[in-house]
Amino acid sequence: MDMLQNLQNVYLKIETAANLTGRKKEDITLIAVSKTKPIEMLEEAYNLGVKVFGENKVQELVEKYEKLQDVHWHLIGTLQKNKVKYIIDKVDLIHSLDNFDLAKEIDKRAKAKGIIANVLIQINIGEEESKSGILKEELNQFIEELKVFENIKVCGLMAIPPKCTGDEVRYYFKQMKILFDNLKTKENSKLIMKYLSMGMTGDYEVAIEEGANMVRVGTGIFGDRDYTK
Ligand SMILES: *Cc1c(COP(=O)(O)O)cnc(C)c1O
Repeated sequence: MDMLQNLQNVYLKIETAANLTGRKKEDITLIAVSKTKPIEMLEEAYNLGVKVFGENKVQELVEKYEKLQDVHWHLIGTLQKNKVKYIIDKVDLIHSLDNFDLAKEIDKRAKAKGIIANVLIQINIGEEESKSGILKEELNQFIEELKVFENIKVCGLMAIPPKCTGDEVRYYFKQMKILFDNLKTKENSKLIMKYLSMGMTGDYEVAIEEGANMVRVGTGIFGDRDYTK
């Protein structure tokens, strides 16, 4: 595994896809998804210029946070209410807000720290039983409900589409872009549609072509994950 080669590959593909839609590579934020990977590999990525890391488990994020300074952390996985307190002042962005009670806890913990929590709303775009996220039909109602929270800023949307072929996945990304653009017309100081977080190793180019400006790439940078350990 040659991480430099992997990264150059990913950057090139990001640039190509961005250019196809009249954007520049700088318009796309790459989150290096380092879940399950040892800290040495994150340090290697850091030395190659990677400054934004995504983790999907709170405990793992906190452990790595202590070891690697001067980087930005994103929580990309399901967040349980009782764990919000551990990460509230450590992450730049929570990608996985999908219910009112979680929002309430995030708001409370952010308030206690005197900060504003930046969040993305996760959409279950394929309406799959196994996935978290709210249904697109619930989005407007959910946005309304979030208005009571003074210490939460909604910065965009996130989705993990169903496993499917390139053509099928494009359809889900298109749906996400429509939701994103629709909310753009409703922006206010606590609802700024800045990030559309979609696309992983298998489909980030398609995602960018369909409007993503934040992609979450793990395997494509760090190689396959080993879950047997
Ligand atoms: C693991 C993960 C990724 C990265 O997946 P790869 O296919 O390895 O690029 C992206 N987003 C989320 C939410 C993940 O859990």
